Amino acid sequence: MKVYMEQDILQENDDQADENRLLFGNTLVVNIIGSPGCGKTTLLEKTIEALKDEYRLAVIEGDIYTTKDSERIEKFGIPSIQINTAGGCHLSAEITSKAASDLDLDDIDILFIENVGNLVCPAEFDLGEDSKVAVLSVVEGDDKPAKYPLLFSEAGAVLLTKTDLLPYTNFDKASAEKDIRALNGDAPIYEMNVLKGEGMDKWLDWLRVQHKAKTIK
Ligand code: MG
Ligand code: ZN
Repeated sequence: MKVYMEQDILQENDDQADENRLLFGNTLVVNIIGSPGCGKTTLLEKTIEALKDEYRLAVIEGDIYTTKDSERIEKFGIPSIQINTAGGCHLSAEITSKAASDLDLDDIDILFIENVGNLVCPAEFDLGEDSKVAVLSVVEGDDKPAKYPLLFSEAGAVLLTKTDLLPYTNFDKASAEKDIRALNGDAPIYEMNVLKGEGMDKWLDWLRVQHKAKTIK
């Protein structure tokens, strides 16, 4: 009997992720990870609104069951592919490759992947992306970076969302930032109120820089 260990599964995933990197070519791929309700889809809506005339965009939506998020993306008239994981709590490189093969990647500058809402295993599964982006809303608590260190150590950028709600929480921003810095010396931390479109500029510029770096490679 062959017993698949977590290690084997992750190794197979890493091999597929390497193939995905070839498949993605010059397309910048950004894997957005955060808890349910942290504002990933709203972030995508506002980001698409801001960048759709500047770049050719596409989205892969990972959800456990529904198509609610991709319906929100479709109204922008950009390609969007829904993955339903049927209970699965993360996207794998394999399912991502299947979804991506439905896209004309040569005609896409930036591909966003909205991972399943979860702070744990999405960080373990490399999808072949250029960057993981960690989204943490202040209502989730300042202890989350220390409690879920892998995501925050792997993230290319950390987005602190719903900052307009700070007065109504006991979120200690300095403490969260200190914990993020201990895990990750490089990732910029951007504070934003996505719903009102506040604090988006630095994030959009970060995407522009990542895209430029990808096309120069
Ligand atoms: Mg969503
Ligand atoms: Zn999972």
